Amino acid sequence: MKSIKFNRELCDFCGTCVGVCPHDAIELLESDLRITDKCTLCMNCVYICPVRALEELDEG
Ligand code: SF4
Ligand code: SF4
Repeated sequence: MKSIKFNRELCDFCGTCVGVCPHDAIELLESDLRITDKCTLCMNCVYICPVRALEELDEG
C-alpha cells in the first residue's frame, strides 16, 4: 500500500507542498505536517518539495 512519509528533520515549513496539493490534503502546523485522508497519492507534493522531506512509500 502506498503512502507518503514526512521527514520532519528535513522540512523547513516553506508551505510549497500545500500550494500544489489539488485536494487540500496537507495540514501545515507550526512544527509538523499532516497528510489527511483527502490525499489521493497524486505525488505533486513529493515532486515539488525542495528538500525532499516528503517521500513516497510503497509497502506492498
Ligand atoms: S514543500 Fe517540503 S519543505 Fe516545504 S513545507 Fe512541504 S514538506 Fe516542508
Ligand atoms: S500526494 Fe497529492 S493529494 Fe496527497 S498530499 Fe500530496 S499533493 Fe496532496
